[in-house]
Amino acid sequence: MVTMDGSRRILDADVLVGDGRIKSVGRSDGRTVGRSKPAIIDCRGLVLLPGLIQAHIHLCQTLFRGLADDLSLENWLEKRIWPLEAAHTEDSIHASAMLGAAELLLGGTTAVLDMETVRHTGAAFAALEEIGIRATAGKCLMDAESNPASLREATDTALRESADLCARWHGAADGRLRYCFAPRFAPSCTGPLLRAVSDLAARAGAMIHTHAAETVLELDTVKRETGHDEIAYLDSVGISGPRAALAHCVWVDKDGIARLAQQHTNVVHCPSSNLKLGSGVAPIPELLAAGCRVGIGADGAPCNNRLDVFAEMRLAALVQKPRLGPETMPAAQVLELATLGGARALGLEADIGSIEIGKRADLIALDLSGVHAQPEAADLMSRIVYSARAADVRHVIVDGRVVVRDGDLKTADVRRIRTTANAQAKRLAASCFH
Ligand SMILES: [Zn+2]
Repeated sequence: MVTMDGSRRILDADVLVGDGRIKSVGRSDGRTVGRSKPAIIDCRGLVLLPGLIQAHIHLCQTLFRGLADDLSLENWLEKRIWPLEAAHTEDSIHASAMLGAAELLLGGTTAVLDMETVRHTGAAFAALEEIGIRATAGKCLMDAESNPASLREATDTALRESADLCARWHGAADGRLRYCFAPRFAPSCTGPLLRAVSDLAARAGAMIHTHAAETVLELDTVKRETGHDEIAYLDSVGISGPRAALAHCVWVDKDGIARLAQQHTNVVHCPSSNLKLGSGVAPIPELLAAGCRVGIGADGAPCNNRLDVFAEMRLAALVQKPRLGPETMPAAQVLELATLGGARALGLEADIGSIEIGKRADLIALDLSGVHAQPEAADLMSRIVYSARAADVRHVIVDGRVVVRDGDLKTADVRRIRTTANAQAKRLAASCFH
């Protein structure tokens, strides 16, 4: 068991789970929870980890996988993603969330910070409630003039719907589901909207989830429109601090890094997405050295094209080494991004991210007996980060509920998810691209 607790203990031990939480960690002697004898999941020979966390995902884009390859971020958005998002219906949003969440759970991701599109966010929450993943999700906010008419909303309309969704879903499913306010990125939002989001999030105790400093073009746009560097601008409108999670931060300079560290703003590293869209390599070792909080995420399916946390961890380590040397970003440090870093980015560090008494029971069991992860005497962190893959995940528990057992999803029918997703994806592509 890799605990990720304060002393990073690796134990040969049992975990006792009750009422959705971890009750004890250690050698169990058949103790009971309350009056009932616990159900036992035999994990001998497996590696138990805290559930892995991805702090930047767009479940509404899962149906767009393979429909937007090999494009720059601007073309990717304008020619593909925005028309597809605008064509979504409640049914297609539900199907997209089910497909994405199934992939995430089967691959060992137990919690996500998700940005939906402008409309039908309630349908995504309904899917997340049903499938059993832990999720903090929010409706995308786009009120600036520059947005496509098909997605742009009036500031008041966007804020009102966000507040309604927050009232409905923040804390739902026994706290497993939470709401986040999700301005798309600085150029797609007005200053008054961003300021209002900061106030609303503080009042609701909710996170703010946005993109920042992903491309040079974005930096130039923000500079031209506001006169500020993007990180400083976001800070000036209240999008900073422990309540904020900024995806990407590829193009941050020394001042931006110092500001992010000082404010305890969460940065979410998306190495596959940054490479595939040609955005660049985020200075994650520099951000960590400055004391920044850093999580990790796959971003959306059309810019990755997998939602595989093992692929992101491996790449997060490898992508820095040509620039800073092979000693940079060792495996153990990368695993922190996908556990403790993710927990902080969701505002849930007291509840998830490590195997400790009192935390929510979000656990995964990995089978590293495959030839690709042998020999077994090798360093365990190395085997998890460099060798393991999503298909090695055997069991997944979220909030004490078994959602994956022996590699099978228990909370939904994968065949039905696939059939529905295919039908909806076909309809979306046909309606957008004829
Ligand atoms: Zn994104």
